[in-house]
Amino acid sequence: METLGHLINGQMLATGERRQAIFNPATGEASKELVLASRETVEQAIAVADAAFPAWRDTPPLKRARIMFRFKELLELNADKIAALIGEEHGKISHDALGELQRGIENVEYACGAPELLKGEHSKNVGPNIDSWSEFQPLGVVAGITPFNFPVMVPLWMMPMALVCGNCFVLKPSERDPSSTLYIAQLLQEAGLPDGVLNVVNGDKEAVDTLLTDSRIKAVSFVGSTPIAEYIYSTATVNGKRCQALGGAKNHAIVMPDADMDNAVNQLLGAAFGSSGERCMALSVAVAVGDAAADSLVEKMTAAMAGLKVGVCTERSNDFGPVITRQHQEKVVGYINSAEAQGARIVVDGRNVQVPGYENGYFVGATLIDQVTPDMQSYQEEIFGPVLQVMRVDSMQQAMELIDAHEYGNGTCIFTRDGEAARYFSDNIQVGMVGINVPLPVPVAYHSFGGWKRSLFGDLHAYGPDAVRFYTKRKTITQRWPSAGVREGAQFAFPS
Ligand code: NAD
Repeated sequence: METLGHLINGQMLATGERRQAIFNPATGEASKELVLASRETVEQAIAVADAAFPAWRDTPPLKRARIMFRFKELLELNADKIAALIGEEHGKISHDALGELQRGIENVEYACGAPELLKGEHSKNVGPNIDSWSEFQPLGVVAGITPFNFPVMVPLWMMPMALVCGNCFVLKPSERDPSSTLYIAQLLQEAGLPDGVLNVVNGDKEAVDTLLTDSRIKAVSFVGSTPIAEYIYSTATVNGKRCQALGGAKNHAIVMPDADMDNAVNQLLGAAFGSSGERCMALSVAVAVGDAAADSLVEKMTAAMAGLKVGVCTERSNDFGPVITRQHQEKVVGYINSAEAQGARIVVDGRNVQVPGYENGYFVGATLIDQVTPDMQSYQEEIFGPVLQVMRVDSMQQAMELIDAHEYGNGTCIFTRDGEAARYFSDNIQVGMVGINVPLPVPVAYHSFGGWKRSLFGDLHAYGPDAVRFYTKRKTITQRWPSAGVREGAQFAFPS
């Protein structure tokens, strides 16, 4: 069985530490063994990054960007291999994995604009013969900690921008599906990144805690579940680090009575069940305004779901694959059970789905639950599985109150033909990313990504323009060049 280790100083290391199995979620079998980094190994990676920093900091942004151009090319050349690695450990079907990669590549493309992004701000004659400018300097060594559900895209939200801004990087990928992450890090190395500038440590809490407490780490970007995001944010900041910690979600779609119902159903289908619902932007709750809209939605959705296919990642006709682990499969089924026990109606039941030839895989079929109410556990918590819940309200105002009362505020969407209602919704809803007839309003790479409320701890969003601010510190310089001696007397008050 192949053993996966760490990428430190350009070398793969895999010696003498704790190990754990990586499973193929479609078969339920262990496929690889992962070496879990000890505190000493993580400290070694940090030391190497720290040593690489002075030279990398002084490398012109254009040269750093050229490495990203080569990296983009390598990602494209190796797209099928990357998608296969994602599929083997995450279970995501191949065309969805290629889509994930594409969204990641768009962040590499944005990072190619580093010279432009880092130009700074300049003002001539802020006073007589005085010029002033702000420049954006790298922080030093920064860390990224990433979740299982986008093993390529989320690291690409972080690494390219952190690196082109002149930082060195230590990445701790998810321990459940690290192969594709490790592989793209090797491609970045192959693209010409100097040894030590990027290091990948595989591991668990021990590795994370080392990154959170070591004084050489200046900033931490985290993406994962809310309880861990909150822990990461509080621990990193108390240790004096800059931190952005993106957490979990419960994304609602309001379905207005005037919506084009066929279109809404079609959009919801992909947004609720794509990637087995294991997306932080998955639309997991449809809030129908009025019983007529709800009945029509449930009826059309039920018919549409009959055509969905769950199965292995390599079969192109499948719509989505297994969930990540046996434990997670049981958790998703547990939420469906609890909704039923609390009085909801299971309209389409995916609990006992079987995929022929893959009886031990962690599959959950697409599930539709109607008559869900705010007191239900399945509504209050993030399910992160292929489950769409329908709630019924009487007005758009009630739907918005429901959304605003939820602890998460990642994404939301409204399906309507009424521009005024849509504008009111997007102006007032307490959610960070809003779609109007767009079910997954994931910002493109030249905007930034982030939720509100307990979906994001910190101030700056991920990637895009916010990443330049997150991965740099502003320095403002004011200069005057007196040509000969003292020009004016000492001043004891601000000039007026
Ligand atoms: P997770 O929180 O379990 O793990 C994320 C990372 O934290 C992993 O690298 C893991 O090793 C580490 N970790 C886990 N437990 C830890 C602990 N006790 N101490 C220190 N580190 C720990 O998340 P996951 O299950 O891998 O990913 C799914 C979650 O991520 C969902 O909640 C999803 O909504 C969220 N997510 C959010 C976004 C976003 O942009 N807001 C994007 C993708 C995923």
